[in-house]
Amino acid sequence: MHLPCPTCDRTNRVPAQRLLDKARCAACKGPLLPLDRAVPVASAEDFDELARDAAAPVLVDFWAGWCAPCRVVGPELEKVAAARAGALIVAKVDTEALPEVAGRFAVQSIPTMVLLRGGREATRLSGAMPAAAILARLGV
Ligand SMILES: [Zn+2]
Repeated sequence: MHLPCPTCDRTNRVPAQRLLDKARCAACKGPLLPLDRAVPVASAEDFDELARDAAAPVLVDFWAGWCAPCRVVGPELEKVAAARAGALIVAKVDTEALPEVAGRFAVQSIPTMVLLRGGREATRLSGAMPAAAILARLGV
């Protein structure tokens, strides 16, 4: 899947099953993995790979640029990703860019957060809330 480098923003290609391994950026050699931040999903193909191959549960944030509560929950999800680095993958799906992925989960309102375990929906949360509430309500 496609993973932007947090240092130089160059896209690295990384197998989804390796997101919890250690890796450096191919361009700037800065730290790339393990994942300790929310990862933007670039395509439906990348989403499928992530859902199928991820070595940890995946928390998917369905959001859009025009959605004010999504902008509130974005930094909270970054905190969740940092707090659960190595144990949970946080992925962001832009519902405007990937409407087919949002459609598959019948996302009616945003922000909606769907927890995938083994590629299947385990829990979902709707609406903005602080990181501590997200972690408590998901039980992760
Ligand atoms: Zn880089």
